[in-house]
Amino acid sequence: MSILLEGAWIITQNENRETLRGDILIEDNQIVQVGEGISSEGIEERIDCSRKIIFPGLVNAHTHCAMGLLRGYGEGLPLKNWLAEKIWPAEAKLKPEDIYWGSLLGMIEMIRSGTTSFSDMYPVGMERMADAAGEIGMRAVLGYGMMDKPEGRNLEGELNRAKEMLGELGKANPRIKGSVSAHSLYMCSEELVKKGKELANENGMLFQMHVSETREEVFTLLSEKKMRPVQYLESLGVLDSLSLFSHMGWVTKKEIEIAGKNGVSVAHCPMSSLKLAVGDIAPISEFMEKGANVCLGTDGPASNNSLNMLESLKMSLLLQSHKYWDPTRFSVANAWDSATLNGAKALGIHSGEISEGKLADLVIVDALAANLKPLPADLRMIAYSINPSNITDMIIDGKFVMKEGKIEFVDEGMVLEKAEDVAHELLNR
Ligand SMILES: [Zn+2]
Repeated sequence: MSILLEGAWIITQNENRETLRGDILIEDNQIVQVGEGISSEGIEERIDCSRKIIFPGLVNAHTHCAMGLLRGYGEGLPLKNWLAEKIWPAEAKLKPEDIYWGSLLGMIEMIRSGTTSFSDMYPVGMERMADAAGEIGMRAVLGYGMMDKPEGRNLEGELNRAKEMLGELGKANPRIKGSVSAHSLYMCSEELVKKGKELANENGMLFQMHVSETREEVFTLLSEKKMRPVQYLESLGVLDSLSLFSHMGWVTKKEIEIAGKNGVSVAHCPMSSLKLAVGDIAPISEFMEKGANVCLGTDGPASNNSLNMLESLKMSLLLQSHKYWDPTRFSVANAWDSATLNGAKALGIHSGEISEGKLADLVIVDALAANLKPLPADLRMIAYSINPSNITDMIIDGKFVMKEGKIEFVDEGMVLEKAEDVAHELLNR
């Protein structure tokens, strides 16, 4: 299948971070040419994009996408109470079939807000999440969320479950990859973290973990181990470029240096940190300056309450400007990098830019909209103005997963109704 997108404004995110006016030629699942006046001879589908902006598909580096089923549940509580009193008891009742519908719900929201790839960890139903991603056409990196501290779970059981899932995901399709996830230092034993990282390394896979999200988590570890989380994780040997740590808000300058030196990926989730009142603004400018791979995530839709990466993109810009009293320290270009290239690098996906040879994962935006006028000379500035309603089409792996506003491979209305029923039934279970 060949597709020619003609005459668009393109935010390429290429080596020189060019924005240009031109065409994009896609053959099968790859971008094969980008530039002016590409010949349309023999092309199967030509699309006039003269009023469109095209940018690389966003990469949501940290989410729990099926948690849309619990959106709005237990609002207004601090993280610890929200998890212990509301979320974990509800999650204990979840069945794999619920995850399937919750995942489709989340994926529709992600597609409509510009995300083509995401990284997820969850303690139940990941095989069904993989099925959902396969059907709707998204790219995903999925890890069973191991934790051996709650009652009823143990180290061997959790590792076996993680291994089982890696086997299952391997059979899925090339858009779905496995990863190994340990929930956090407060939910996992030292042995589980070490063994989890070993399992990830044996398979050349991403290792995911929540790290330094709250002050309490940091000071509990400090009193138990006499080390801060990043130093402790370094002592366990789990810091390298295949480790992706979400949040990383409560960190010292020494920890930032350690993370940077080891090329760790950091998933910044500004909306959930603000909503859960964790009291910090993650110093992602400093992580970036010290060499860490700074990515962007939404976290789950129960703690955000959305999967809208465009909102997180804008919020990351606003928060860094506010934190450092300096709008240049974390630039619009840095923010786009975190939402595209850096996320793709962390997830090991050959996308994140519109360049020859890259996977054809891209987002098409209708520029004829009041909130986008006038278009700035540097198109990346639209990070401040854009919203999901501007997105008309999305291509993932060379296929339209949304075309002229219509989700292509699943019945959106049916999914929304089913997810509503499942959510209500779950809370009454
Ligand atoms: Zn999370």
